[in-house]
Amino acid sequence: MKEINLYNTLTKKIEPFVANEVGKVKMYTCGPTVYHFAHIGNLRSYIMEDVLEKSFRYAGYDVKRVMNITDVGHLSSDADSGEDKMLMGAKREHKSVMEIAAFYRDAFFEDCRKLNIKTPDVVEPATNCIPEFIKMIEKLIETGYAYTAGGNVYFDTEKLERYYVLSNQNEEELMVGARDDVEEDINKKNKTDFVLWFTKSKFDDQELKWESPWGTGYPGWHIECSAISIKHLGEQLDIHCGGIDNVFPHHTNEIAQSEAYLGHKWCNYWFHVLHLNDNTGKMSKSKGDFLTVSLLERKGYHPLVYRLFCLQSHYRKPLVFSYDVLDNVKATYEKLVKKIASLGESGELENERMAEYREAFAGALGNDINTSQALTVVYDVLKADLNDASKRALLNEFDAVLSLDLTKETESEEVDVRLAAYVEEMIEKRKIARKEKDFARADAIRDELLQKGIEIKDTREGTTWSLLS
Ligand code: AMP
Ligand code: ZN
Repeated sequence: MKEINLYNTLTKKIEPFVANEVGKVKMYTCGPTVYHFAHIGNLRSYIMEDVLEKSFRYAGYDVKRVMNITDVGHLSSDADSGEDKMLMGAKREHKSVMEIAAFYRDAFFEDCRKLNIKTPDVVEPATNCIPEFIKMIEKLIETGYAYTAGGNVYFDTEKLERYYVLSNQNEEELMVGARDDVEEDINKKNKTDFVLWFTKSKFDDQELKWESPWGTGYPGWHIECSAISIKHLGEQLDIHCGGIDNVFPHHTNEIAQSEAYLGHKWCNYWFHVLHLNDNTGKMSKSKGDFLTVSLLERKGYHPLVYRLFCLQSHYRKPLVFSYDVLDNVKATYEKLVKKIASLGESGELENERMAEYREAFAGALGNDINTSQALTVVYDVLKADLNDASKRALLNEFDAVLSLDLTKETESEEVDVRLAAYVEEMIEKRKIARKEKDFARADAIRDELLQKGIEIKDTREGTTWSLLS
């Protein structure tokens, strides 16, 4: 197992990662609220969490990763007020909540596919786990950590010695940050108490409701992640991830209720990704025209250009999106894949000399998932005194984590950026050969392309190319 050092929001330090069970990582990720498309800010979090998971695998761990799908209970304010986001989506599109959930869940996984984000081992919608939520809430009431008031069930944060384990901020600041409206819930004993089960919603038209010991209703958002994590990963969690906005109240509340329920410490490491902002500030799904992967595609950017954009900076730094920067990244990406595509296949693997680069790459990941440092190692390999086969093999290994399709063989029906870049470079070389009257070399280039199923034609407008069917 290679060493991985990670910043832990719980201890506010970079620490060596030590799993509960040697060689195994139990990892939980807060999944999307599927009432709208994911914006590229949300996807920054999922890209960096994907790199984290793959870094564990690269370091030799066996990872079990679980993610929920929030399809009920997430209100427009994270502090349990406002309207259920799913219902907002259903009203907006004149569909049922379940139709909205299915549509945007599929859209989310389609975005993930385009960005080479691996699907977690378990994906669990909240609406599948109502009995688990009820069981957990029942025990919290029995043990005095929860109370009913005005028909709802609340977690009593006063019962805990330390509620703010994840954050040291001032309570007022946190509460203001967490809510859209400044409406007080008079049922709460303490300002920070949160809803475990709603029966009294000011929105009578809440579409999805279930029977419970406290009346017909629906679960609060926070209980979902605790119950789903415990259901699939047991009582000891190694690492929990999410965007930085999840620290309070969502993750703070998850810790409160999970540890009250289990009676012991629950999760050792907390991994948070800083936000992607646009030039107006924070990105939001509720603002009309927000940035999505499809929008980037329509503007001519390959989704992996956005992945590279994210990998170029550290996950613990805020990132500002701009098309100017994305244009630079696009040029970098095209140059990089072109360079790799031009590598030959020749040579025996020089394993001894490759070790230094493997170590440097693992070291970059182990250095709090330093992806820009890992990218530097990619360039070091390209410049290295190694044969092409060794370079290809290394880049292929690194791409298991970076997932930028650096060495992917291009499928004949997919005329993508890598293939185009490669063919154009070959055409350029052939042009030079012909100019220098080296017709043997020019023909050899044409033959090499033909062998790869690419036909070139010299026309009055220049050399064109097509794939042989
Ligand atoms: P949601 O679908 O709203 O529940 O959010 C899904 C994930 O995206 C959560 O982990 C959020 O913390 C994260 N997130 C929300 N906004 C941003 C942003 N602008 N940049 C990065 N991550 C974000
Ligand atoms: Zn969560």
